[in-house]
Amino acid sequence: MASRETWVRERLAEASARGDENVTQMHYARMGVITEEMKYVAAREKLSPELVRDEVARGRAIIPANIRHVNLEPMGIGVAFKCKINANIGNSATTSNIDEELRKLHIAVHYGSDTAMDLSTGGDIPAIRQAIIDHSPIPIGTVPIYEAVTRVRRMEDVTPELMLEVIEEQALQGVDYMTIHAGVLREFLPMVRNRVTGIVSRGGALLAQWMSYHHRDNFLYERFTDICKIFRKYDVSFSLGDGLRPGSLADASDEAQFAELKVLGELAKKAWEHDVQVMIEGPGHIPMDQIELQVKKEMEMCHEAPFYTLGPLVTDIAPGYDHITSAIGAAMIGWHGAAMLCYVTPKEHLGLPNADDVRQGIIAYKIAAHAADVARHRPGARDRDDALSYARFLFDWEKQFDLSLDPETARSMHDETLADPYYKEAKFCSMCGPKFCSMNATQIADAYAGQTQEERQQRFVQLLAKVELPVSAPANVPEESAEPTPAKSA
Ligand code: SF4
Repeated sequence: MASRETWVRERLAEASARGDENVTQMHYARMGVITEEMKYVAAREKLSPELVRDEVARGRAIIPANIRHVNLEPMGIGVAFKCKINANIGNSATTSNIDEELRKLHIAVHYGSDTAMDLSTGGDIPAIRQAIIDHSPIPIGTVPIYEAVTRVRRMEDVTPELMLEVIEEQALQGVDYMTIHAGVLREFLPMVRNRVTGIVSRGGALLAQWMSYHHRDNFLYERFTDICKIFRKYDVSFSLGDGLRPGSLADASDEAQFAELKVLGELAKKAWEHDVQVMIEGPGHIPMDQIELQVKKEMEMCHEAPFYTLGPLVTDIAPGYDHITSAIGAAMIGWHGAAMLCYVTPKEHLGLPNADDVRQGIIAYKIAAHAADVARHRPGARDRDDALSYARFLFDWEKQFDLSLDPETARSMHDETLADPYYKEAKFCSMCGPKFCSMNATQIADAYAGQTQEERQQRFVQLLAKVELPVSAPANVPEESAEPTPAKSA
């Protein structure tokens, strides 16, 4: 990629010449300009640059790309684009350091996460964040209220001015999107009192604590215009937080959740008045039969701003397997129109995930997002599935591994019983053995009927030429570690 630094420098010079301090992708899109970032996203999505510009202009897509994050490889989030996933990294008050966080970033990028959120809550938070941004080719999101809380003795001591100061500092560092829980209003707090699990969002609960103590409304709501003014200077995108998301099936789709969603829709419009990009965060814990409704409500109340959901978990009874319970909901909500899926790891609700939990969470969500893309009939979405299926049928084991989402695991499972290189040519695996391999038997039947596998081979080769295999790790980032990482966004 040509240097994004050059793109940004040239645009800033032009903006300054015309006395314009707004540098957001939405601002350019609304002026009819196709930026280099839009062209880059268009190439990645196999769409026209005009379509990308139009989606950004109308608020149905965002390109989270802070002008200070110049080593970023621009990507888009929106219903017209491929479904994306996010992985959470960041330290806790007791664990981790910069090297550990960079290793977590390496895992996230290596396994194909499209964005990462730095949810650090302890240590030298600004230094860790700067290192992550400097090494990251993917957009970085944060929840700035976490840092604000670490700068005072208790949440009640946070002031609106401190909050704005933290937000501006993070924007200056190059954060691409920030979770802002501006929709949690004081009048909504009585609505959660009869819930089974109350407020489960950390940001939402902290704000409830602050509002109840001060008998005042949410400062993020009251100072929303000030936040927009900061965001438009650096092109930081809003991830409008769902501070009142349901934390159990019993609380799904309740009054509090939808009251907040309505406010998020109003705030999205307000941000768009400043040409600031917006996505909307979503639940949580939702039974499968309510998932379609969730997307419809979000699209209607939030004017089709990209929907960024945490799962949702479709049952509450599987602690230890919530990457599965949530990937089921994630696949469904992606199919119905969610634009980005925030991963959940097997440790959800149980403890701080380690590196392997992170890997499992990402793989589960790559499956969910891909399954959603296939179900939405996105152009070319099924090519990799078809290529892998040909590799499987034609017993090209090496290609089958290469085409897998997790080649190392696929290979090691195969090698567990048939490690000898000889078996990479074999027309069977240890599941059925040589005599009962149905695909081999089909090929033998074809041969008796005078048919070869030539045609399948040709289609396989054609597909391989079309499939782009991910994923490169960011430069200069150490290999993965076994250290834990925070579980959950916002
Ligand atoms: S042996 Fe069975 S599982 Fe293995 S490749 Fe053949 S059909 Fe598939």
